[in-house]
Amino acid sequence: MDGAAPYSAKHPPRLSAMDELRLENNMLRSRLDDILEHAHRNQNIMERHQKFELQIIGASHFIELITSIFSSLAETSELDMVSLILLDPRQDLQQMLTDLRINLREFPHMLFVRSERELQTPCISSQKPVLGPYQRHLYEQFFRSFSQKPASVALIPLIRQGRLIGYLNLGSFSADRFLSSMATDFIQRLGSIIAICLENVINNERLTYIGLTDPLTNVSNRRYVEQRTLEEIGRARRQGYGIACMYLDIDFFKKVNDQYGHQGGDDVLCEVARRIKAELRLSDTLGRFGGEEFVVLLINANLQDAMMVAERIRRSIAEKAFPLSEGGSCNTSISIGLTTVSEKQNHGDEVIVAKEMISRADRALYDAKRSGRNMVRCE
Ligand code: GH3
Ligand code: MG
Ligand code: MG
Repeated sequence: MDGAAPYSAKHPPRLSAMDELRLENNMLRSRLDDILEHAHRNQNIMERHQKFELQIIGASHFIELITSIFSSLAETSELDMVSLILLDPRQDLQQMLTDLRINLREFPHMLFVRSERELQTPCISSQKPVLGPYQRHLYEQFFRSFSQKPASVALIPLIRQGRLIGYLNLGSFSADRFLSSMATDFIQRLGSIIAICLENVINNERLTYIGLTDPLTNVSNRRYVEQRTLEEIGRARRQGYGIACMYLDIDFFKKVNDQYGHQGGDDVLCEVARRIKAELRLSDTLGRFGGEEFVVLLINANLQDAMMVAERIRRSIAEKAFPLSEGGSCNTSISIGLTTVSEKQNHGDEVIVAKEMISRADRALYDAKRSGRNMVRCE
């Protein structure tokens, strides 16, 4: 008799060859779907990484690169925290970035250290990435800017020409995200690319810095001060405060050169720049305008504030001898012309306001020279 055999648990119905094929086919199809989904996911991750790499390779400024690292890497790689440590043995990198008006406080997860010793991790000297569970006693310094600590971490040394320049640190709240058994080629590649990009943007910033810095005294040059004056006049106008400008000129500087030689003159110039700078706030600008002349811009200052600063500068130069690199010391003094642009005076063409401000300070300086030198005069 034809028809379906009655179901029995002891003897489950036998599948026909066709059904078996169909079942196997379904299983294969489902496996293929899994593989395809996995491949799509991997492709998606790869595309996101490629996009990130193109973004950082294209960065020409320090800010642009650091912003990409902090904002895009965490998203691209689905990380809970990213921090960056930069080695700055002489602290000149921080100084240069600050001088270029880069606000480092905007990047709380970027830390500067003078040496690897500050990181207190003797185990990371191999210059190879370290992956594994977070261990407070070893990795605290790498994630000290985060209040919540990761469960697993990857610490990637950034190396250029065999020299360690910093660490890129990745953290995840998931304990199995970074295991010590994992392959590190991908992470090493990421570290190499970021190290190259960092070196590139730092070199670019150095070039900008050199173009705006006086090589002898290391303060800004005339080009920078003129550019900055225009910016500051615009800002003072928008924000409604006054600015002050000083023109400073060393007295009888020719005699210093005659008596102590050109080197002695250079020593005095450098020390004068240091002493002026020591009396200023971070927001003020000091530039060497040429020869033995300097210009200072005081931001958000009225005539009374500016007089006090100018007088402090004058005294700091007249009252203490200048040591000379070839031995001995000498005394000198400085004359200062001072002027201000109040909120009310700050209108019209900014270029003209800037030019007139500097000319007024220069005239006041001439007055100080004529009146006997080593003094402050206002106009
Ligand atoms: P005053 O009080 O009227 O300003 O007299 P002064 O001698 O300071 O002024 P003057 O402008 O006659 O001389 C400036 C001197 O500064 C002349 C120049 O040789 C010297 N000088 C300019 N640039 C440099 C420099 O980079 N290094 C050294 N050592 N001397 C410089
Ligand atoms: Mg002069
Ligand atoms: Mg002079």
